Amino acid sequence: MSLLARARPELAAFTPYASARRSGFEARIRLEANECPWSGDEEASGLNRYPSPQPDALRARLGALYDAPPSRLWIGRGSDEAIDLLLRAFCRPGRDNVVALAPTFGMYRIGAQLQGAEYRALALDGEADFALDPDALLALADDDTKLVVVCSPNNPTGTLYHGDVLGELAARLAGRALLVVDEAYVEFAGVASAAGLIGRHPNLAVLRTLSKVHALAGARVGTLVAAEEVIDLVGRIAAPYPLPTPSVRAALAALDDDAVARTERRVGVLVAERARLAHALASAPDVRRLWPSAGNFLLVRFADADAAFARLLAAGILVRNVSKQAGLEQCLRITVGAPDENDAVLAALGA
Ligand code: PMP
Repeated sequence: MSLLARARPELAAFTPYASARRSGFEARIRLEANECPWSGDEEASGLNRYPSPQPDALRARLGALYDAPPSRLWIGRGSDEAIDLLLRAFCRPGRDNVVALAPTFGMYRIGAQLQGAEYRALALDGEADFALDPDALLALADDDTKLVVVCSPNNPTGTLYHGDVLGELAARLAGRALLVVDEAYVEFAGVASAAGLIGRHPNLAVLRTLSKVHALAGARVGTLVAAEEVIDLVGRIAAPYPLPTPSVRAALAALDDDAVARTERRVGVLVAERARLAHALASAPDVRRLWPSAGNFLLVRFADADAAFARLLAAGILVRNVSKQAGLEQCLRITVGAPDENDAVLAALGA
């Protein structure tokens, strides 16, 4: 069964805004979009024109990067926007629900709340290394579940959920719900993307971003990789021009061959630094537990997280205090930085 039958029914007959740039016509004199005829100075060159909603060059480049045909990509303002649009496309306010993990990335809950969808979270146990039991996760799903979100590597635990478990979840949700795998950090995990499973499981969607390893958090470029019918639906409800021209330029520059080679070297450095930081922190006086991480961060339990947070801050280092979240008592999430920044963390913690 097509998953479109599970989207909000009113969207089946929804006519998207027909923006000027969607007309497909080319002309020497463009007077169809109420733009200014003059371009700005060098930096603003060409910015008098509205951008293509989904620029071909960027789609092609991201398709190659993510090993997916361009028809299976929708590019937006960070993966945050894709999460929001999936919730809006599938969840009927006041009726439908979303199933996810806890702890996990906070935007799934926020997005669900904004859409008026119920948010159901499976509590993972740090004592069991945040292992995911597919039966327990699916036990939370019912006829009104539209999205099941698995963040892998999971933020903030660093846990990788990979391979068979994702295929199994997708198969068991087939025709009922979209399995959304958020791979914001997958480049640090050294595993293949779950997007390779979409051909077999058209109810699987994968979120990728240029914000982390590609060093473009400020440009806001995220990609949804999904079956064509899901991409089409998201494209129809998206804002007319989701991608600012300067961000498209920055993304293309970050994805040329030299830049990608540099990115790969940087991943190597950060993965090695993650191991070094983890090893040194494990023997730090106030560290009680440290979880294996497949991301560019470490989840660390301290004897007193607030005290460790304050000690780091006094040394000029800001980390994320996640200790108020259920299951993360006395925990800090520490991003793996450049080698000198990590040295500073270790020095501040007496490790
Ligand atoms: N997913 C996860 C798991 C994240 O941690 C983040 C950012 N912290 C995002 C998505 C959002 O990324 P983007 O910058 O692409 O919107």
